[in-house]
Amino acid sequence: MAGTIQLEVVTPEKLVVSEEATIVMAPGAEGEFGVLPGHTPFLTSLTLGTLRYRDTAGTERCVFINGGFAEALPDRVTVLAQSAERRCDIDINRAKAALERAKKRLEHPEDASVEPDMDFERAKAALARAQARMSLAETRRNVAMQ
Ligand code: ATP
Repeated sequence: MAGTIQLEVVTPEKLVVSEEATIVMAPGAEGEFGVLPGHTPFLTSLTLGTLRYRDTAGTERCVFINGGFAEALPDRVTVLAQSAERRCDIDINRAKAALERAKKRLEHPEDASVEPDMDFERAKAALARAQARMSLAETRRNVAMQ
C-alpha cells in the first residue's frame, strides 16, 4: 500500500507487531518522535513508554515499550524492545502484582535481613514498568492523535 510504513516491534521473546501504519509515534530517549511515510532515515534509542500508531483502517493502536532501539526508514520502522505488549495484551493483575512486589522492596531497602541481594535500581525499574503498564491498560479511550 502506498503512503504507509511497515511497523515491526520485536523483543528477544516474540514478534509483537507486524503491521502497516500511516503514522508511528514512539518514546525516544530524547522525547517522543513521529514518523510519517518518506521520513529521513535515522536510528535512536527508546525509553520506557508507549508507542502509538495508526493502522490503515484509521484506528489508533498503543503498545507498551520497555526501552530499546528504533530504526526509521522511509517505508519502515523497526523497534527492538527489551519487552513490549500491545495494550490489549497487558495483564493488569500481573502488573499490579509486580507493582506491589517492587513497592515492598523499595519500602525497606535498608532491611538486608529480609532480602540481602535486593537491587534498588532493579526494583525501581520494575516499579516504573508496572506503573506504565497499568496506566496504559487503564487508558481505554481512543484519543485522537494530534
Ligand atoms: P513481571 O515481574 O510480572 O515478570 P516484568 O516487568 O519484570 O514483570 P518484563 O521483564 O518487562 O516483565 O517482561 C517479561 C515478559 O513478560 C515479556 O514477554 C512481557 O511482554 C511479559 N509481561 C510482563 N508483564 C506483563 C503484563 N502485565 N501483561 C502482559 N505481559 C507482560
